[in-house]
Amino acid sequence: MFNNLSDKLDKALHTLKGHGQITEINVAETLKEVRRALLDADVNFKIAKDFTKKVQTKALGQNVLTTLNPGQLMVKLVKDELTELMGGDTVGINLGGSPTVILMSGLQGSGKTTFSGKLANYLKTKKTKQVLLVGCDVYRPAAINQLQVVGEQIGVEVYAEEGNKNPVEISKNAIAHAKANGKNVVIIDTAGRLAVDQEMMTEISNIHKAINPQETLFVVDSMTGQDAVNTAKAFNDILNFDGVVLTKLDGDTRGGAALTIKSVVDKPIKFIGTGEKMEAIDVFHPDRMADRILGMGDVISLVERAQDQYDEEEARKLQKKIAKNQFGFDDFLNQIQQIKKMGSMKDLVGMIPGAGKAMKDVDIDDDAFKGIEAIIHSMTPLERSTPTTINASRKKRIAKGSGTSVQEVNQLMKQFTQMSKMMKMMQGGGGRKMMQMMKG
Ligand code: GDP
Repeated sequence: MFNNLSDKLDKALHTLKGHGQITEINVAETLKEVRRALLDADVNFKIAKDFTKKVQTKALGQNVLTTLNPGQLMVKLVKDELTELMGGDTVGINLGGSPTVILMSGLQGSGKTTFSGKLANYLKTKKTKQVLLVGCDVYRPAAINQLQVVGEQIGVEVYAEEGNKNPVEISKNAIAHAKANGKNVVIIDTAGRLAVDQEMMTEISNIHKAINPQETLFVVDSMTGQDAVNTAKAFNDILNFDGVVLTKLDGDTRGGAALTIKSVVDKPIKFIGTGEKMEAIDVFHPDRMADRILGMGDVISLVERAQDQYDEEEARKLQKKIAKNQFGFDDFLNQIQQIKKMGSMKDLVGMIPGAGKAMKDVDIDDDAFKGIEAIIHSMTPLERSTPTTINASRKKRIAKGSGTSVQEVNQLMKQFTQMSKMMKMMQGGGGRKMMQMMKG
């Protein structure tokens, strides 16, 4: 996420940290570099200029030059300003109303349908809501179809009216249907065009007026940079929407949209999309994003994601197995599946403070687990449950079956043994022992 921007900001601030003597000239130079980094990230000139001006004023006001650690203070000032630029506080969605009606807007391809599904899934699992998804794209039957596939995947009902070409009517009928069927959230996915056009704007504006939603969200592809900001402006003029959803932040986006949308339309970014899977949705926290941009990681989000995957029942079962020395390769495989559900490896590494930067040149492959999975899949049930049965000839067979080498099988066996030992130690209240082991 925002690798290029992170890199450049890091370099800019590094220069300042590296200088023995910090002078007004160093500070000015650093800020010039910061401004260049922002411009390269596709932030418009005026916003970038205002940004550095604000940091400079604060730096002067706080007498940066005479503080004990001017470099760190500068990093903090830049972080605070980045947070402010992205909206300052976290703003959630309004779940009032009975039912809550959420209207999705945006161009075709922005990720509206995918996000409607993600939001439905999020509300269903996190807020235990009964959600109804509504397909309102009366021009593209394929779009309704796509929503139905998504609905099926997450177990959420999809309302559509085949043959009805009136989206206002469909929306109203859907809300009535929700009321009659005990649903408390209605998410309406509307039609999108490839570019802003009058007809489309009139249509969504009519739906908006007719249903008066609690929450109108504008979905935008973060890869489109300044175009995203212009589209946001056009939609906001018509809809006065409540919040922005930035999608495809997992891609190689420069960051301009995330950094400028708030200043241009004065509406908060509420959610981000970080992948194609239904779980790839995050509440947008400006301060955490600023931390990530500055390479400080985002441990809070990482822990939250781990908690989302945490299943108490499963954990208890696992604990019992570990205590009885019954932890096997099937459990190992299970753990891998859970880690995979937390997001792409690149994304997860970026959340560990310092790791994103340290590993930026390492090609973190999401297929990294593939070899391990193949090896485990080539084992017999007995080998998986009782790894000690795996002798040399079995290793040869497993390597052959999984298209790997005996060396790789050995390596996995070693990792497995270490992991089992560590888990056993943690269980025995040996947290301290483990810390010592890690230190030593
Ligand atoms: P719509 O036309 O606005 O409804 O857009 P879709 O929901 O059909 O999304 C367009 C394409 O973008 C699809 O291929 C999605 O899988 C993909 N997509 C949506 N959100 C994300 C995201 O957060 N990350 C990535 N990598 N792809 C996404």
